[in-house]
Amino acid sequence: MAIATINPATGETIKTFEALNDTEIAAKLDLAGQAFEHYRKTSFRERSQWLIKAAEILEQEKAEFGKLMTLEMGKPLKAAIAETEKCAAVCRYYAENAADFLADVSVKTDASQSFVRYQPLGVILAVMPWNFPFWQVFRFAAPALMAGNVGLLKHASNVPQCALAIEDIIRRAGFPQGAFQTLLIGAAKVADLMADERVKAATLTGSEPAGASLAAAAGKQIKKTVLELGGSDPFIVLESADIETAVVTATTARMLNSGQSCIAAKRFIVAEAIADKFEKLLLDKFLALKVGDPMQLDTDLGPLATPDILEELDQQVQTAVKSGGKVLTGGQLLADRPGNFYPPTIITDIPQDSVIAQEEFFGPVALLFRVPDIDAAIKLANATPFGLGASAWTTNNQERDRLVTEIDAGAVFINGMVKSDPRLPFGGIKRSGYGRELSIQGIHEFVNVKTVWVK
Ligand code: NDP
Repeated sequence: MAIATINPATGETIKTFEALNDTEIAAKLDLAGQAFEHYRKTSFRERSQWLIKAAEILEQEKAEFGKLMTLEMGKPLKAAIAETEKCAAVCRYYAENAADFLADVSVKTDASQSFVRYQPLGVILAVMPWNFPFWQVFRFAAPALMAGNVGLLKHASNVPQCALAIEDIIRRAGFPQGAFQTLLIGAAKVADLMADERVKAATLTGSEPAGASLAAAAGKQIKKTVLELGGSDPFIVLESADIETAVVTATTARMLNSGQSCIAAKRFIVAEAIADKFEKLLLDKFLALKVGDPMQLDTDLGPLATPDILEELDQQVQTAVKSGGKVLTGGQLLADRPGNFYPPTIITDIPQDSVIAQEEFFGPVALLFRVPDIDAAIKLANATPFGLGASAWTTNNQERDRLVTEIDAGAVFINGMVKSDPRLPFGGIKRSGYGRELSIQGIHEFVNVKTVWVK
């Protein structure tokens, strides 16, 4: 994939970039390795001042950063600006809490003194996707830098200007030279990076094939990875639920980032008794969405990020229809305009055991399923290879407890939308990946948990 800014709303190539050559990559690795040797000795106080400065830059320039994201990957501008604000929040969160999260932990043993000490690992590689081009990076960078690690970013090839802007923010915030660098490289170079002795661990957010490939390369070198991959999150609505609120949230949860989010609600599993009402209200909401220029602040749904994503989604919809699915709205490419636009789409009646029902739809397509009861709802919710998040709606406490316990996912949100929050761990099980980002668990992923025992 060429490293380039291509406006997804028009198809126009705005700017292309040369990938770094091997000598340039080696120089950046050298710099990262050297930077770690002195960066690891900086204090929490210093790191936290730099991270707060990064938060201030993000807040002050959120309109420009928002426009850059929208230009490169097409998310509606208001969402892009909100994403910048969220990045500032995660910087502040770790600036305030990292010292506590990484403080020595005393443990009583037969020693006169024994404790756990958390120390940085070194250079960490982050392979990141285009869908939240700032957020995905900052949620890695803020804890990694606070822990004393050094970051190398291999961002998705369609968001190079975002990648360079992030490097620039961290440099301007005052972090030492080499503490965080962007590498403009293709995916084919990642395995070589994993084999380099200076790179100690890696995190990847993206597709299953990319995750599997990175983990295989890291496995060969016995290096740790965190993987945050796809999801086909269920959104379960049981009979006792507040249907009106559920429908409003369902629409937001599906259309998040024009449908291109790993934690977007993708499969709507609704109790038969309320399914007609839910379906009608959801259809009304989808029909009211404004699809168009993502730079306009009142646009709800922008283009998909790339022609490939659009084509894959279109193929999936056609397969769903061939498998017996019925399209309530949308379901056809928007041929009346340039760019990668796809309409809000609802598909019902897909056989629950079909292959397509288990796939992730990375765009504005809702799959609607009807179930007789909670048993069937939980069974269907779990019937995918993924296990990232789940949203479930009920006012019955017994049902709530069953949903919390029996859904196989990294997160269950009751009567609310699945979302990431710096204070809560984020990540999946099954083919959605492993490891956690955010919260105290996230900062502990890339540290040496050192046991200290003193007689
Ligand atoms: P990819 O997984 O291909 O891209 C994500 C990142 O991984 C990019 O930086 C990419 O680089 C890199 N990458 C790709 N292949 C490899 C590899 N073999 N080894 C190491 N790094 C690699 O996602 P796509 O953009 O192709 O999207 C395809 C699908 O992935 C989506 O439809 C969606 O299902 C899923 N996805 C999930 C995301 C999530 O948030 N969990 C985010 C994005 C996608 P490069 O851009 O240079 O190829």
